[in-house]
Amino acid sequence: MIIPQITPPFLLNWGFSTRLDDLTELPPVRLSQVHGCKVVSSLDEVQEADGLWTTKPCTRIGVRVADCVPILLAGFARGKPWVATLHAGWRGAVAGIFRNGIELFKAQGGDLASLAWSFGPCIQPCHFEVGTEVIEAARIDSAWHDALVSMGSFGSSEKPHLDLHGLLRAQGLSMGLNPANEGSVPLCTVCQSDLLWSYRRGDRTERQWGWIEIG
Ligand SMILES: [Zn+2]
Repeated sequence: MIIPQITPPFLLNWGFSTRLDDLTELPPVRLSQVHGCKVVSSLDEVQEADGLWTTKPCTRIGVRVADCVPILLAGFARGKPWVATLHAGWRGAVAGIFRNGIELFKAQGGDLASLAWSFGPCIQPCHFEVGTEVIEAARIDSAWHDALVSMGSFGSSEKPHLDLHGLLRAQGLSMGLNPANEGSVPLCTVCQSDLLWSYRRGDRTERQWGWIEIG
């Protein structure tokens, strides 16, 4: 298990699973993930969404990924612990899954200064070669800056490489997140074949989890 690199604001358990972890310790599947931007709170049924939040203690929630970014959030909303987990590939990031999660927290009286945020292992710029249509879509985001794309700087490829963590970070900071509260883990799922599953590298069914539980 890989733990976010930040002290949480309250007692909790959280982590990013690896291919070495015991599957029985992971949360039940509650989301049918569709690379969208919907964030829900129901724990009773499987829903088509890419984010889940809760204020319920001792309830492990999570998202499954194999190149996309698992996002963990933990902060105080009206004085009580609030946690969320989001699934963000480039489509979800551009569609606003992270912005929606932050907006939900604020709408419930969330104190942005208290919010700890962590992006887990994903396909990093070293391997995230994309088509120009992806860059065109991401460029529309108001938080976009040109350092999020690198051209031809990784081996033979002349195609653009996108920085997913960077895009999400730019969105979060533009919405007022505190940079001192970031605890991201910048590992690449493609590079770390002994530790992490990667869809692009060829793992078609296996997934790792980003999960969180109020203690
Ligand atoms: Zn890599």
